[in-house]
Amino acid sequence: MATAILGLQWGDEGKGKITHLLAQDADMVVRFNGGPNAGHTVIDRGVKFGTHLVPAGVFYDGTLNVLAGGVVVDLDVLRAELEEISAHIGGSPDLLIAENAHLILPYHRLLEEIEGSGAHFGTTRRGIAPTYRDKAAKVGIRAGDLLRPDRLRERLAWRVDQLKRQWATNEQVAALDAEGLADGLLATAEPFLESIGDAAGAIRSALDAGRRVLFEGAQGTLLDLDHGTYPYVTSSSTTFAGLGNSIGVPAPNVARRIGVLKAYTTRVGEGPFTTELDDDTGILLRERGGEFGVTTGRPRRCGWLDLVAVDHAVSVNGATELALTKLDVLTGVDEIKVCRTYRLDGRTTDRFPLSADEMEACEPVYEALPGWSEGLSGAERVEDLPAQAVDYVRFIEEATGVPVGIVSYGPAPEETIHRTL
Ligand code: GDP
Repeated sequence: MATAILGLQWGDEGKGKITHLLAQDADMVVRFNGGPNAGHTVIDRGVKFGTHLVPAGVFYDGTLNVLAGGVVVDLDVLRAELEEISAHIGGSPDLLIAENAHLILPYHRLLEEIEGSGAHFGTTRRGIAPTYRDKAAKVGIRAGDLLRPDRLRERLAWRVDQLKRQWATNEQVAALDAEGLADGLLATAEPFLESIGDAAGAIRSALDAGRRVLFEGAQGTLLDLDHGTYPYVTSSSTTFAGLGNSIGVPAPNVARRIGVLKAYTTRVGEGPFTTELDDDTGILLRERGGEFGVTTGRPRRCGWLDLVAVDHAVSVNGATELALTKLDVLTGVDEIKVCRTYRLDGRTTDRFPLSADEMEACEPVYEALPGWSEGLSGAERVEDLPAQAVDYVRFIEEATGVPVGIVSYGPAPEETIHRTL
């Protein structure tokens, strides 16, 4: 019984809450993409955490937490998060880091800073893009290299030398010291050495044995390197389509693929956003929804639900179920708009364009639904919600052809409706 949780929009859909809820029944929780650019908000036993790298299973006893091969790992961030969470749970979470996961090193953050180009694509300045770039260029350092210090020193010396030649006029690059970097890295890595191993094998065995495995996606489908709004995307695969490659399992048998969908749309940084609102409703959604980045603090752009984009995301992920979040944020909005088609070059289309230019040219075509004014608190079934909210849920199900299995109407774990599908 494996489950995957994937964002269907531009990230920040509320995956943190849903993953934390479902992780309590999991034997293994696997992060399979991105790095500490993710920012999940989790409320565990009344305490709020902003997690970036650790899988959500760290909050529960006896759960193995895996950072799969497709993840990029910053050991400093990992150590800080684990310390904070260990103090909270009163123990050390079980961790397995894939030997082929790439490491984010100080020079990756430096490169992002000196290149400056990342700002354009909405970087979180955590060295993510340069690390994935090194991976693709075959000059990266991987977790497994930490187990062979001599080899690690050799590769680092070679890479630093290469950087110095590439950035000959940059003082910060000139000051890089490969030996010092290796010493620092090995010291930081020391407590993790026993946790580095064959993650792909462990995941395969767990799936074969029918263990409860939960795959935790970061960012959202529209930020996917291949299937998102390129070039305003992240550097990894954020979808179920990319999961198999990241974890090293061909066509993984994951029966439950939950697409997390916010009741409206948000986006951080630049890039096309067809249903963006520049008016008071946009401001209301931002304020009410607390739409400010966990990792960067940046205000998020807000707009109506875009079902053209969601349909695309449902297809790329083969979503079997939706988790609809932040429904409470729409309470008190008189008229809720939803986009099901775009106007492009005088024609109507329900196809999501993969080119940012083409997407910029799309105009939303809206359908309006009546809003509700009653609070949603205490609802245990969808039928307990105000009639217009029930209609909104049904509208989304009908438009996407995918059932809504979870409805979230507040940040706390208990503000959730679980339906039996
Ligand atoms: P993620 O990256 O997808 O995990 O999303 P974030 O954690 O960045 O953003 C979700 C934010 O919304 C967090 O502050 C959550 O505590 C909060 N949140 C999650 N679900 C709900 C909900 O149903 N209603 C409200 N009001 N807030 C929610």
